[in-house]
Amino acid sequence: MENNIHIIVAAGDGRSRSMVVKKRVAKALAVAASVVGVILVVSLYLSYNSLAQQRILIQLESDVHRLSTQNSQLLSQVCQQETEKQELLSNAVNNLNERSSKIESILTKVGIEIPATEGDLNSGGPYIADMSDFGDGSEDALFVSQQLMDIVETLPLGIPCEGYLSSSFGARRDPFNGRKAFHSGIDIAHYVGTKVYATASGTVKSRGAVSGYGNMVKVANGDRFVTVFGHLDKILVKRGQQIARGDVIGTMGNTGRSTGPHLHYEIRDQGKAINPYSFTYLAE
Ligand SMILES: [Zn+2]
Repeated sequence: MENNIHIIVAAGDGRSRSMVVKKRVAKALAVAASVVGVILVVSLYLSYNSLAQQRILIQLESDVHRLSTQNSQLLSQVCQQETEKQELLSNAVNNLNERSSKIESILTKVGIEIPATEGDLNSGGPYIADMSDFGDGSEDALFVSQQLMDIVETLPLGIPCEGYLSSSFGARRDPFNGRKAFHSGIDIAHYVGTKVYATASGTVKSRGAVSGYGNMVKVANGDRFVTVFGHLDKILVKRGQQIARGDVIGTMGNTGRSTGPHLHYEIRDQGKAINPYSFTYLAE
């Protein structure tokens, strides 16, 4: 078997030359050329791929950077809004607390004992504890404020009619027989027909002539207080009628055990007559 390959190389001038290459060598050359080709293709492919990946990475990096910038901008906006919100809330809570303490000071001034709150807000302590102890204090401030408003709504405040104080609350000489007696309200004197106003919202509990009191109106102000208006000339409310603070309930008269036109005005706190003076003349 022929082990050689004859290669004829033709030159431009018509001459030709014959080369003899061993088959084995030719095979080896062919294999080497194929391997070089494959390596070339693979490395080209790899370098293309790595370029593409690099481009993607650069894009990703830029995206991440952009997003991170946006994120920190948003975060700073949120922080600012949060600060503004906190400031607003804190101002509101402060206003609420200020109002509550004003109401509380009025209640203290008129001698109304404020009930302790239920639960763990403050166990057995005063009604308004140190508000700064409770987180942002908003819920507690609202709670306390609402409780106080409920009391104030039904708390008989202010004067029930025009006139001057003609008799105080407490021990006095009876104007009829001169004996020691207890006066369970205050007397405000003016002329017959002077309008008499409700001093808190409530329900008319009774109305009509009562021994000693003459024409009388009794108003239940919430569960705690009762106001009594005696010696009226005319009664202008019905039994069971809902009334608001400032509503006219009747007119001043001289009915019952009375020495002249005046209003006998009583405040009862949980059934006990208390001195209405401080409730009536808050400014003094
Ligand atoms: Zn009286």
